[in-house]
Amino acid sequence: MKMKRLGLPPSVFLFLLFASPLAAQQGAGRRAATFWTVLARPKFVVMLVLGLISLALLLTKKMKDRIKIPLLLLTTFLFGIAPNLPVALFKKFSMHPSPVCAATKSILYGFGMPLIVTLAVIVFLTLVGPKLFCGWVCPVGAIQELVAMLADRLKIRRIKWNFVFTQTVRIGIFLLFVFLSGTAIYHTFVEEQKVALSIYDPINAFHGFEFVAQPSFLAGFLHYLPLLLTLALAIKFYRPFCYLVCPVGLLTNLLEQVALFRVTLKKTGCNDCGVCEKVSPCPTVPEILKRSVLRPDCFSCTACVNSCKERKALEYGTKRYLRWTPGPRPGFADD
Ligand code: SF4
Ligand code: SF4
Repeated sequence: MKMKRLGLPPSVFLFLLFASPLAAQQGAGRRAATFWTVLARPKFVVMLVLGLISLALLLTKKMKDRIKIPLLLLTTFLFGIAPNLPVALFKKFSMHPSPVCAATKSILYGFGMPLIVTLAVIVFLTLVGPKLFCGWVCPVGAIQELVAMLADRLKIRRIKWNFVFTQTVRIGIFLLFVFLSGTAIYHTFVEEQKVALSIYDPINAFHGFEFVAQPSFLAGFLHYLPLLLTLALAIKFYRPFCYLVCPVGLLTNLLEQVALFRVTLKKTGCNDCGVCEKVSPCPTVPEILKRSVLRPDCFSCTACVNSCKERKALEYGTKRYLRWTPGPRPGFADD
């Protein structure tokens, strides 16, 4: 499909610099949707409500499997499956633009208000934390979490990621994307090419939730392949698409380091039994126990927090500098 407008510079700073004029340009000649009118759409309101309800459940320690499973099923259904059903109301919850597109297409084609609002909701829910968008609102994240839980129930031995490896792959894909977007800009001006290449297009698992007829069997196979591969890998590895591919995972991993709430360690409660590390699906718990400043992704799955039933050494709490009383809370070592 030919795109009418192409390429912003790949740099994020230039991307932000150009954002307002481009959004204004897009709205010229027709009644432009404002940030607030787009944010008031049912999809974004439900996203915010779901994220904040999840936060309340995490903070009050009520996020157990009997609540977690229906919540993840709801997210998968509402934002993944329902928009494909012939019900007008459900179409309002379509994950279009997908989080991956929100984080990347604006670099290629300029900002549109739905892209800005999608990014704003992701950033807001991540800054409140702990990774509320990825943990409880994203349908690709939710379905991977459900597969992981199923694999645990079936006692399938799972392999933990090496975070240096996954982060290298995730950053490498993003840098390749930036490089290719640069070539698109070059071709736009020098060779009049009208289509920008995005490395994420053929590997975007969100496409698997778009049940649209494809021109051939091969095209259909390639359309669903990223999601099918993600689900297959999710049986053995925790959230493969999030850790290896998703640019939103990369962005939210940076943001979660300064989030308002995250898993915190109560120093006096921990007796180094290692149970939390054993039951956790992620590479994050060892870094929490070591009190590392930078942590791998935490999707607030609750496995580590719920595993420490007796001593309650892990909990969802605030960073030290955000607590009301000056100095560390008695018994708390986090941050
Ligand atoms: S990292 Fe990407 S796919 Fe995973 S939950 Fe976040 S937005 Fe969804
Ligand atoms: S096990 Fe703990 S640190 Fe790992 S994702 Fe779940 S809540 Fe976060």
